[in-house]
Amino acid sequence: MEIVFVGCGDAFGSGGRGHTCFQVTASGTRFLIDCGASGLAGLKREGIDRNAIDLLLITHLHADHAGGIPFFILDAQFLAKRTRPLTIAGPPGLSAWYPRAMELAFPGSSATRQKFELSLVELAADAPCTVAGVTVRPTLVQHGAPVAPAYGYRITLDGKVLAYTGDTEWTESLVELGRDADLMIAEAYWFEKVVPYHLSWGTLAQHLPRIAPRRLILTHMGDDMLAHCAEVPCETARDGLTITL
Ligand SMILES: [Zn+2]
Ligand SMILES: [Zn+2]
Repeated sequence: MEIVFVGCGDAFGSGGRGHTCFQVTASGTRFLIDCGASGLAGLKREGIDRNAIDLLLITHLHADHAGGIPFFILDAQFLAKRTRPLTIAGPPGLSAWYPRAMELAFPGSSATRQKFELSLVELAADAPCTVAGVTVRPTLVQHGAPVAPAYGYRITLDGKVLAYTGDTEWTESLVELGRDADLMIAEAYWFEKVVPYHLSWGTLAQHLPRIAPRRLILTHMGDDMLAHCAEVPCETARDGLTITL
């Protein structure tokens, strides 16, 4: 499994980083985890073939995680000349959000008929499923109003486990989500400060012995966390970082 951190920044461009967008390549599939507003530019910077991507797996409907979808879709239609089917999967609310997001970004675009098959799939929490060839267990996390559920994902591919917290304050569901994972990608928005809806390194570190991921990479770092990267005993993401599991 190969993972490219196309973008690993927070919502506010801290450190000049792009919005969340990870490309995962495994045998028989290539997909994005999140497609934040700057995602398409990041894909082009990394020389990634957009037409080879089967699935956009979205953690939640904030613009720094899903705001790149209208750009991805219009690029697929008009520039990349996509013909391959595309699946967008995410939490409940995705299907209603999609036409609103298209219309907000490019008025009139929600009525455009794509030249490729587009499937919107709302995933059920805590129910392992296979979507576009990807075996994933969505886990509800705590990231704001319950009207807009947010997920973390535990993904099993090629005999390896990749866990991603998405955006969340501490919740016990993260223990099972990340337990013994070959790679856990965890939000660390603040270094030590505890705030609602987001994780800090200090909070995560308290619980790490129970999670025990084999490898840990921090992402979605704000300015405060970025200033403390040298003080944490694990890896930190940067745009363009590519790793193989
Ligand atoms: Zn975010
Ligand atoms: Zn968010």
